[in-house]
Amino acid sequence: MFGSMSIRARLVLSFSVLLGLLFAVTAVSLQRSDELTGKTQEIVDYQAHRVFLAQRANRHAQAAAIYLLNLLQTPDREKRVPLYAAMDAEIAASDEAVSELGKTMLPPDIQTDIERVADLRQRYGALFQETVELIELEGPEKARGHFEDRTQKVLNTLLFETLALENHLQQLMQSELEGLRQSAANARLLAIFLALSALATGGILAWAIARSIVKPVQEAVAVAESIASGDYKKDVPQGRQDEIGALLRSLTIMRDSIASREDSILRLAYVDTLTNLPNRTRFLEILGALPAASSGALVILGIDRFAPINNALGHAVGDRLLCEIAGRLKHATDESAIVARLWGDQFALLLDGADKTAVAELVRQILLELRAPMIVDGQHLDVDASFGVALYPQDGTSAARLLRRADLAMINAKRRHDSVAFGSDLDAEPAHEQLSLIGEMREALARREFVVYYQPKLNLAKNRITSAEALIRWQHPEKGMIPPMRFIPFAEQTGFIREITPWVLEDVIQQAAQWQRSGMDIVTSVNLSTHDLLNHDLVAQVLALLKDSGLPASQLCLEITESALMDEPELALKHLDELAAHGIKLSIDDYGTGQASLAYVKTLPVNELKIDRAFITGIDATPKNAAIVRSTILLCRELGLSVVAEGAETPAELAWLGSNGCDVVQGYGVAKPMALPDFLTWVREFNRIAVSPTPTF
Ligand code: C2E
Ligand code: MG
Ligand code: MG
Repeated sequence: MFGSMSIRARLVLSFSVLLGLLFAVTAVSLQRSDELTGKTQEIVDYQAHRVFLAQRANRHAQAAAIYLLNLLQTPDREKRVPLYAAMDAEIAASDEAVSELGKTMLPPDIQTDIERVADLRQRYGALFQETVELIELEGPEKARGHFEDRTQKVLNTLLFETLALENHLQQLMQSELEGLRQSAANARLLAIFLALSALATGGILAWAIARSIVKPVQEAVAVAESIASGDYKKDVPQGRQDEIGALLRSLTIMRDSIASREDSILRLAYVDTLTNLPNRTRFLEILGALPAASSGALVILGIDRFAPINNALGHAVGDRLLCEIAGRLKHATDESAIVARLWGDQFALLLDGADKTAVAELVRQILLELRAPMIVDGQHLDVDASFGVALYPQDGTSAARLLRRADLAMINAKRRHDSVAFGSDLDAEPAHEQLSLIGEMREALARREFVVYYQPKLNLAKNRITSAEALIRWQHPEKGMIPPMRFIPFAEQTGFIREITPWVLEDVIQQAAQWQRSGMDIVTSVNLSTHDLLNHDLVAQVLALLKDSGLPASQLCLEITESALMDEPELALKHLDELAAHGIKLSIDDYGTGQASLAYVKTLPVNELKIDRAFITGIDATPKNAAIVRSTILLCRELGLSVVAEGAETPAELAWLGSNGCDVVQGYGVAKPMALPDFLTWVREFNRIAVSPTPTF
């Protein structure tokens, strides 16, 4: 109805129309009211006056006639004199009324009536005069005959006509009054009609305006509500030129800027700005929102040797490497997989619906992608990665537990130098109380709650305890004795091992120096972790401790695992060389669990190889393990390495090791790790009895 008019124009138009109608109603009412008042006035002033004049003419004519009758019956002349005067006055008054009536504007028929009355009046006047003269000349008796024959007839006609005139005038007034009434009724109808038209027009205008405003306002409200609810896709009606159009255009601009601002906020909160992948927060959110009944896999991927690349080539290269890796991960996975960067060199994949086989295949694909030549800033980089997989719901349903399982599996994979490890392959989940221990470790060190146990190593050829391994324990005030596997891995993960190792080294070296001084010839082993081996101060620290305690370097052995050598082989090797150069013995611990070959071990400055317990347990009844251990012993002999069999528990295992040329045995079969006093007593006792080279078992 209003087309493209502005709301302002619409309101102005509508109110103008309404005011116009109101004005028309008022004007018509006023005009009609004035007209009626005028007519009424005219009737009061004019018509009524004419009627009054006609009545007067009639009344006076009647009165004159009565006086004439009186005259006719008054014989006494003297008595007739006043009657004449009164009769003349009445006739004059009647004449005056008729002549006054004749002067007024009257319709032609009334005019004719008046003329007839005037004519009759003249005739009556002449006859009346004749009657009066006869009265005076011939007496009333004679005059009565004239009166009755002639005058009275004309008088009657005159009275009749005067009355008729009066009636006529009254009818005229009545008809005018009727016209007035009709006119008033018409004016009333017109006013009602105009008022109703104004009401109807006003109603239609109000409805149309309300509709033309309310509808777009509702649309604007719907748009605003959709913006408020975070839906920025809802169509905003376009094309309106009025104020609502301007409002909708502003809403569109507002919506777009809110959306873009929200986008950037979300980006900052949820996106890793380096790789453009979802960040840890976003990943955890997606993980937490998985439906309860879903199944799939959470994969954590740690880049191997990223730290040395970052250190050696600089952070800019490291950053570009991470971006390249992110790109390859996206390339290797399909759309449904969520690829995120958790932090540093750790990425995560969420593979909803994937089973163990599918994950293993995907890991293989990703490794192929990652191992393909990668050139960053002109540097040819070899990238490898370790994958930890937690399957849900088997490994857990909460995001925290799944992440922990996948993380532990990844650490496990790194340790074992396997590409991938599954959460289900891990030992029992570390209990919450164990996790809380991590926080307590620092205080434990300050409160001297850590103690060193010693496990004897039996030299089979000499049948003597010639060495021992120092193994840490945590004497917890509430939880009792805590074995190292429950806190050392976390100390390694958190870096706290850097504080534990110096303490162990100091404690053990001082102890060993005392034994040395008391004539006990025991080489003592201390375990080192990857962190320790890469610590630039390690060599200086050990040398300083040896110097302070007076312990000969050859009485100290440091045990390292193969995996510890893998993270930064060059630095690790440099430190090993320096330690070896000072005469400190070195040992490869847990041999066989990693992938290091004996050919590789040969290149290291080590003196001892400790075959992992996994090969020793049940060796007397496991031909395959027996073959591996036998050939390892032979090869070590060739290479000049001393062989230690770890974890020998049964006499049969010990006997097998003795008869197959193993140099040293460490295991519960000889003795369990013991606290210092027990260890000293036990060793003295053992070495005192064991004088013959034959094993005592
Ligand atoms: P490891 O260096 O391989 O130490 C040998 C582990 O095998 C010790 O466990 C020992 O008690 C256990 N063991 C020895 N003989 C037998 C046997 O016959 N049967 C069985 N079932 N186990 C046997 P422990 O003391 O629990 O230490 C576990 C690991 O914790 C060590 O493995 C070592 O990797 C680490 N660890 C212990 N103390 C230290 C330390 O001071 N520093 C570092 N970095 N790691 C340590
Ligand atoms: Mg060890
Ligand atoms: Mg070991």
